[in-house]
Amino acid sequence: MSRAYNFCAGPATLPEPVLQQAREEMLDWHGTGMSVMEMSHRGDEFVEIADTAEKDLRELAGVSDDYAVLFMQGGASSQFATIPLNLLGDKTSADYVNTGIWSKKAIAEASRYGHVNVAASSEADGFTSIPDQESWNTRADAAYLHYTPNETIGGLEFDFVPDSGSVPLVADMSSTMLSRPLEVSRFGLIYAGAQKNIGPSGLVVVIIRKDLLGRARKITPTMMNYQVFADNDSMFNTPATYSWYLAGLVFKWLKAQGGVTAMGEINRRKASKLYGFIDNNDFYANPISPRFRSWMNIPFTLADDALNNAFLEGANERGLLNLKGHRSVGGMRASIYNAMPEAGVDALIDYMTAFAKERG
Ligand code: PMP
Repeated sequence: MSRAYNFCAGPATLPEPVLQQAREEMLDWHGTGMSVMEMSHRGDEFVEIADTAEKDLRELAGVSDDYAVLFMQGGASSQFATIPLNLLGDKTSADYVNTGIWSKKAIAEASRYGHVNVAASSEADGFTSIPDQESWNTRADAAYLHYTPNETIGGLEFDFVPDSGSVPLVADMSSTMLSRPLEVSRFGLIYAGAQKNIGPSGLVVVIIRKDLLGRARKITPTMMNYQVFADNDSMFNTPATYSWYLAGLVFKWLKAQGGVTAMGEINRRKASKLYGFIDNNDFYANPISPRFRSWMNIPFTLADDALNNAFLEGANERGLLNLKGHRSVGGMRASIYNAMPEAGVDALIDYMTAFAKERG
């Protein structure tokens, strides 16, 4: 067996020890004679798996008892509707910051349920930077302020947590969750699709301040109601048990790496190595203002687009997979989440060096 370095933006590479453990436990989990996939979600075994995963996530991310942790389904995209349905309450409008494709999708969906005030946007500069908070047009009577800390496609990332005053701050952390320390108390709600730093796709983790529960509109589908999920330990229906289990294995792996503080150091180092290389090589370029460059998703272009296919073919031959940029941006993108080892970044830089020498 040979494992490639997979730079996919999501579903993304998972830690190899996690996959190995899942393989070992596949047919018989801890002597029960069952796979986790076959267990009753209400049985003692699975309840233990679920509780342990939640406990480990709380410990890793520093989530206090003031917050509920929910394991929901439908990916991060379903949250684009779930959030306004639950949080608009008796208010009519919410503030959104537009920093790229994922913010736009969140805005489009929320607009179906209420008025969206786009409080700030970096569209005018092609989503290459983030406007200073002093220039934002936020409103004190907004139901919440939504932003996307890391734009997975553009590779644009906030280097600050916005100050939303008494308005609850809502963050789509799909592609940055658990990549570094986080001050949960600054947020009303954090959500993250699992398929980058947490586990398999489909699962979405929601961390919500408990005072924001119970505000859902009457028309809110039961399966989208945060209060229902909180009251039922995310088991109102059959949860995505296997994904939840795998997320739990990833949390254990993260703890063994030294948690989010150690991860943050490693991620900073990996990203600055790759950006440093790109900046020092005329053949490659990244358009994002250096202060707001993502640690997780690094888009780059070659000096000549006509070489893109040759670059990708050569990369595949070396076991460097999924480097093609998003169809809306073009060029390349290397996603280097927690589970991408530093050796993977080194291998990519070696290949980029050789390719530029040969073709540049
Ligand atoms: N938000 C962000 C920032 C994302 O990167 C993604 C997925 N790439 C989504 C939302 C959508 O996630 P899902 O496919 O799980 O709905």
